[in-house]
Amino acid sequence: MMTQTTAAVIWFAGLVGWCIIRYPFERRAKKVGVRRSLFDHRESALLALAVIGLFVIPAIYVLTGSPRTFDRPFIPAFAWLGIMPMIAALWLFRRSHADLGRNWSISLQVRDQHVLVKSGVYRLIRHPMYSSFFLLGVAQLLLLANWFAGLAGMIGAGILYACRVGREEQMMLESFGDEYRSYMARTRRIIPWII
Ligand code: SAH
Repeated sequence: MMTQTTAAVIWFAGLVGWCIIRYPFERRAKKVGVRRSLFDHRESALLALAVIGLFVIPAIYVLTGSPRTFDRPFIPAFAWLGIMPMIAALWLFRRSHADLGRNWSISLQVRDQHVLVKSGVYRLIRHPMYSSFFLLGVAQLLLLANWFAGLAGMIGAGILYACRVGREEQMMLESFGDEYRSYMARTRRIIPWII
């Protein structure tokens, strides 16, 4: 049976899975040199916003029930549906890290011997990791019966994406030139064949 507690536990399990997937990449990234970095205060603020929306606000809601003003009725069918984007988010998060390998950075950085990855989940979309953030946001919205805690993830991920993606592509164009230009011409940003 799906209860509000079960839905909260599923959301929390997703969060734990997310951290387990990311941890080895964060460790490994420290050992790879950085050739060019656009990691500034603006980038840190954007990352913080995404973390607040996807993790801090929903965690406070799950632990304390606040802010109650924004509670919506709990609909078990929505919570069941929320499991799908959660699994998809974890899968895509894991795959995009595996495909990027040593080229991954938490922010906008070009590594020593950076290679442009165009295969795996990068074959059809240029930003599968950001797609996984949005999928996590959709799961959050379906699992948590509170408009504020539910929507916070999509908003945080949306702001990060909107403010970062153009800059990231500009950085990749400057680093990879025509190789990135032709990769852009045959791929979309976050949803295959659509956007
Ligand atoms: N925007 C991508 C990657 C996010 S990680 C995604 O959503 O999947 C951010 C880092 O990945 C950036 O510093 C950039 O240097 C690197 N990067 C982005 N796209 C890449 C690609 N296709 N190949 C190699 N590195 C890439």
